[in-house]
Amino acid sequence: MKIALIAHDKKKDNMIELAIKYKDTLAHHELYATGTTGTLVMGETGLAIKRMKSGPLGGDQQIGSMVAEGKLDLIIFLRDPLTSQPHEPDVSALLRLCDVQSIPLATNVKSAEIMLEAVKVGLIK
Ligand code: PGA
Repeated sequence: MKIALIAHDKKKDNMIELAIKYKDTLAHHELYATGTTGTLVMGETGLAIKRMKSGPLGGDQQIGSMVAEGKLDLIIFLRDPLTSQPHEPDVSALLRLCDVQSIPLATNVKSAEIMLEAVKVGLIK
């Protein structure tokens, strides 16, 4: 599967914890991430991740473009709902495209864990 990882700044530690917990599962898939999230997760886990630009610099739109082209199968986007983001329009656009394309999207840790458990046992391919 092609899986994208994105985390807003206050959620980056959660993303790292998640990636460590599911490292063995994630290692079997093609991983993509926005710039800073990707750098941090790669540094902490050693997973190979193709990095886009940083979210505020267009990374969310790059991921969105992949969704529009049917090139992603699952997105984990740990959003910070309590902090206003300069690139909020890009964030909304990405979420919208996931719904347009019916791409599984987890926006919090618990949802992400449920999806990654499903990936782990081969329920989603
Ligand atoms: P980042 O982008 O991984 O480059 O921090 C995430 C975002 O804010 O959308």
